[in-house]
Amino acid sequence: MKVHFTKEQVTEHIYRIRGIGDACMYYIHGNSSGLLIDTAYGVGDLQSFIDTAFDQPYEVVITHGHADHANGIAQWKEVYLNRLDRDLYYTKTAISLRRIMLKRTVPDIDTYPDTEFQKQFLGTFKDIEDGMIFDLGNCTVQTIGAPGHTQGMMVLLVREDRTALFGDACGVCTFLFKPESSTVAEYCRTLQKLQSYEDRFDIVLRQHGTCSSAKSITDENLETAKKIIAGTDAHLPFDYLGEHVWMAEPYDPATGMRKDGKSGNIVYSMDKIK
Ligand SMILES: [Zn+2]
Repeated sequence: MKVHFTKEQVTEHIYRIRGIGDACMYYIHGNSSGLLIDTAYGVGDLQSFIDTAFDQPYEVVITHGHADHANGIAQWKEVYLNRLDRDLYYTKTAISLRRIMLKRTVPDIDTYPDTEFQKQFLGTFKDIEDGMIFDLGNCTVQTIGAPGHTQGMMVLLVREDRTALFGDACGVCTFLFKPESSTVAEYCRTLQKLQSYEDRFDIVLRQHGTCSSAKSITDENLETAKKIIAGTDAHLPFDYLGEHVWMAEPYDPATGMRKDGKSGNIVYSMDKIK
């Protein structure tokens, strides 16, 4: 069985790449070089697809160390990943773990042989930090450190397209309950930092669900975070792969969307608030 990848253009320079599973990837196409953003769960031959689809030199940037974003990196010799997330990558490379995570969105994942899964990365990690610029010719990409979901979480600002790639930094269901997550109070500072960039982008792209959001997603996450800190959020029980945590705003379990029509929401644990 072969994993089939697709590409779809979303802005002048940005393409959304999909393989199997719930996490998409992006390719930023400049006229001299490109950037591949994330590699999803590492199932299938992503490298051959990218090499053929874009036919130009490019580098690989991983937004953060989670298994659904970083597990394809073994196909490359050098990959950008913030040093604070590198240990995290190594905790979830086992094929058995990836099968469990994929089962939710790929019910027939057991029919994919182990040979379809990329193995653990043996190459070199390159540093990616706040304030770096990738010059792709007619397109420049600025990095913004955005700790919260993980400590090494990076947002990428594609300047000419006035687009911010938020990754998992801020979304319709921002996960802040993991050991690698910040407290809600610390996360507020990241949201305020993202707000300080809002005059530079109009479009927010993400890697899950609808994969895009209105700019108000940042304000809505901050408003929700402040409610959690004040103890005035809805505080609804939420189970994630056996972990019992809390959802801040009332939501429809069928769609995962907020009942009041806004879209920012946060899942948190009681020991990671202040
Ligand atoms: Zn993540």
